[in-house]
Amino acid sequence: MTLDTAKTVVDRIFHHINDETDRIEIGFFGGEPLLEFDLIKEIFAYIRSKKRKVEYTFFATTNGTLLTDEMKNWFIANKEHFTLALSLDGTRETQNHNRCNSFDKIDLDFFIKNWPNQGVKMTVSEYSLPSFAKDIKFLHSCGFKKINGANLAAGDFDWNNDNYVELLAPQFKKLVDFYLNNDNLKNHLFDRNLALCEVKKNKKHRRCGVGNRVMFFDVDGKKYPCAYITPMTFSEEDLSNIMKMNFAEDENFIDEYCLINCYIYPICNTCIAENYLNNKCLKERVKSRCRILKLTTLFVADLQAKRIERNPKIFDDNTLYHTIETIKKIRELYLPEFEKYLDMPNA
Ligand code: SF4
Repeated sequence: MTLDTAKTVVDRIFHHINDETDRIEIGFFGGEPLLEFDLIKEIFAYIRSKKRKVEYTFFATTNGTLLTDEMKNWFIANKEHFTLALSLDGTRETQNHNRCNSFDKIDLDFFIKNWPNQGVKMTVSEYSLPSFAKDIKFLHSCGFKKINGANLAAGDFDWNNDNYVELLAPQFKKLVDFYLNNDNLKNHLFDRNLALCEVKKNKKHRRCGVGNRVMFFDVDGKKYPCAYITPMTFSEEDLSNIMKMNFAEDENFIDEYCLINCYIYPICNTCIAENYLNNKCLKERVKSRCRILKLTTLFVADLQAKRIERNPKIFDDNTLYHTIETIKKIRELYLPEFEKYLDMPNA
């Protein structure tokens, strides 16, 4: 993106902010955003040079391998405004396998010290599934308090395959024990609001603000509903069909089958772009990961049950009641299917 295009995009964003918006986040996407460090600096200065009618912050995720001392000094000077998050997949062995021997090129302390509350972004590969728990514990042991994107919905696996369930069950078991003893550490995989399943079907549930609260601009300044729904992923014809959708209307994104038939619908994240990629339909959810999501939910329920047993006051009375009801229901629904994996020696 040229600086002129970037300025035009920024002016457009700030010009169109509606009255309900009180804060925006400006994200820089790659590939690797730090390849365009000079442009990031210039657009940062441009935005800050003018009075803006809403608060704003900056964000980028990096693989951490290109950071020079000059960059570090600039980020340190601007860390109150700019959050730089790190992608890191786990131990040296896992990271080197998943990401081209890059572990020793990353200054972990730089990220931990400057953005202590920012989570590390972890991606799971087929190679790293058997060390899933070890990798997560390692990241926490480095000082990262939060793990984002230990996302089992990602990855090109056939999640219906029994082998993955067999691999993951003992990993989840270890993680439940770990998080039970480390309440201060967060992992979005385990931090789910179970009570939602019991309270009501949350019809409006949408994973993100695609096309509504989110906008994405390509290098030519063309606007798209998110970073995924672009010509890099979809054909011209698909894009034109997708863009006809009214993104402001939640009803357009409800999978009626899931809403009616699936107890965990309110906590099942979905990516509408991925839905379209698989089903040529934005609202029809990808079903190939239902099984793994149910297994995950079973362990989330286990962790929350143990936490409640230890201290029921972690929830208010209402939430406590609904969470316990959800835990009972999840066990009733999913234990029979997964019991055999939980009885395995390591589980
Ligand atoms: S787990 Fe599967 S069936 Fe349930 S809501 Fe998610 S996609 Fe639909």
